[in-house]
Amino acid sequence: MSVLKTEAITLGRTDYSDSSQIIVFYTRDYGKIHTIAKGFKRNSKKYGTKTIDLLTCYQILFIKKEHSSLYTLTEAILQNNYQPVRNDLDKYYKASYIAELVKEFTEENDTNKPFFDIFLDTLTGISNSTNSAVWLLSFELKMLKVLGYLPELRSCINCKNSIQLMREVLFNAKEGGVLCELCQSNIRNGVVVPAGAVVIANKLVDVNIHRLERVKIQSSICIEIEKMLRYYITYILSKETNSCKYITFR
Ligand SMILES: [Zn+2]
Repeated sequence: MSVLKTEAITLGRTDYSDSSQIIVFYTRDYGKIHTIAKGFKRNSKKYGTKTIDLLTCYQILFIKKEHSSLYTLTEAILQNNYQPVRNDLDKYYKASYIAELVKEFTEENDTNKPFFDIFLDTLTGISNSTNSAVWLLSFELKMLKVLGYLPELRSCINCKNSIQLMREVLFNAKEGGVLCELCQSNIRNGVVVPAGAVVIANKLVDVNIHRLERVKIQSSICIEIEKMLRYYITYILSKETNSCKYITFR
């Protein structure tokens, strides 16, 4: 039995008994973990106990037992509760959506520090920014890259011609990228996207996250990029996420 310490963001929680909850965290050092939190409760005043909030960053201490994947949470010290996210429904939905993506795309105990940092920076970005749509799209694209799911967005996956000078392309999830007009004939499904939107999506993959606040993208382009990404993410997960339907682009 050992006590471990790490930075952690709350992804989900369910009641386990009157005074305990199962809390899912994404952590910097241990990836996604499930913990049992005894004496922590949603309504802290009523029960006179401590509480763990969703979409919040904590420094946590937990006990890892052998032969059990459920860890025991012993302490959670608040680092950031992203207050602007709680005061703005649009920000809240976007932050909830990225937390759902982290939960769905990660395996238990699979450490990925670069991905943790992207998640943490994006929560801060959505919290502080007036441009949360760009932060959301950047998160989806950077996530796909860092987890090894990035589709081909630079050139046609068949003829390899650059999409820079094209008007429209067909994005096909199964083929894992875009097809030019000449190469689409055998492909029956996918989404048609303006090539210019795909070029911008491709730039968002690699743009330095600390410079993202300066990036401005028209909302019509954001909608096209999101349409393509949502279709692709639904294909990878084999289901639609619960929170994506609340996302809007203004
Ligand atoms: Zn082609």
